[in-house]
Amino acid sequence: MPALAACGFASGSSVGSGEAAAASSGGGPAASTGGGPAVSAEGPAGSVPRRSLDGKVIVIDPGHNGGNAAHASEVNRLVNVITERKACDTTGTETRSGYAEHAFTWDVSNRTAKILKSQGAKVVLTRGNDTGVGPCVTERAAIGNKNKADAALSVHADGAPKGDRGFHIIEPGLVKGHNDKIISDSRKLGLALRDAYHTGTGMPFSNYRGTKALDVRDDLGGLNLSTRPKVFIECGNMQDPGDAAKLSDPEFRQKIAEALADGLTDYLT
Ligand SMILES: [Zn+2]
Repeated sequence: MPALAACGFASGSSVGSGEAAAASSGGGPAASTGGGPAVSAEGPAGSVPRRSLDGKVIVIDPGHNGGNAAHASEVNRLVNVITERKACDTTGTETRSGYAEHAFTWDVSNRTAKILKSQGAKVVLTRGNDTGVGPCVTERAAIGNKNKADAALSVHADGAPKGDRGFHIIEPGLVKGHNDKIISDSRKLGLALRDAYHTGTGMPFSNYRGTKALDVRDDLGGLNLSTRPKVFIECGNMQDPGDAAKLSDPEFRQKIAEALADGLTDYLT
């Protein structure tokens, strides 16, 4: 069994607890066949016209990467996320049938980007493929900052115990002198995404993290180091058979992408 990082679930306070993913598997299953960002057609003809995002910059961060598991030393290198030192990146989790979180986040991020671009937004992804290593969480934040993102979203799915179900948003906790200016806007972004995701996908609020699917953390480099409004979403729990079935379904992932695009658009317009 590969030792997989429990994605956002393990918020252990000491370095090397849950988050220092032991990338011991031989690369993990390549669950996403068909060339990654296969994106189905836009919504049906006659659907509600989408609002314009002209001039808006959106950074989408697909969590983890397909090459992480095979590059343990690179990925486990410690980086400074202000509140602690932690692994540069992690392998992420996977479903019991081997659908990997990195493949899920890559697919959903590309589907979401396609929708947002069609509305006129400039969309930047923090990685360009699903076979590489990293980037480190520090760099993932820096990409949003450098591009002056109007909104940034980090896409994940969780690896919590079976029976833990549903989705949640992670908002930045205040790290004084670092992310002070994004707390309020990130809260608004989080609310918009929570409501759009809940409505658009029908996924229930998490029964194990946060309050009404809203959690706040100060141990994530991607949030501590961001100077732009940013949240994470844990789209569901890959270890729960019910959630996993949904997350593994391409049609459901298109629903997820549309919901995320709606939430970002609600926040930005
Ligand atoms: Zn993750």
